[in-house]
Amino acid sequence: MEKIKKVPERKCVGCNEHRNKNDLWRVVKTKDGEVSLDKTGRAAGRGAYICKDVACLKKAVKAHRLEASFQMQIPKDVYSALENAMAEGQE
Ligand SMILES: [Zn+2]
Repeated sequence: MEKIKKVPERKCVGCNEHRNKNDLWRVVKTKDGEVSLDKTGRAAGRGAYICKDVACLKKAVKAHRLEASFQMQIPKDVYSALENAMAEGQE
């Protein structure tokens, strides 16, 4: 049997589909309860993932998926950071 290289997959909070980790942005909640965009994907804490796609961000915002994931209000600047990151990624 051929060995398949496993790429870690995570579920997007926008479209609910599993994707390659590299195609997603990670949002992290640290143990201090701070939520931020984790561009490195390596920050300690609980993570939520979203496609590098504005459409998914919009869906997630509308359905309050990040709020549901982290059980807290998400600061506006987290959403702005995601928007900026996605705008950059589309260049
Ligand atoms: Zn998505």
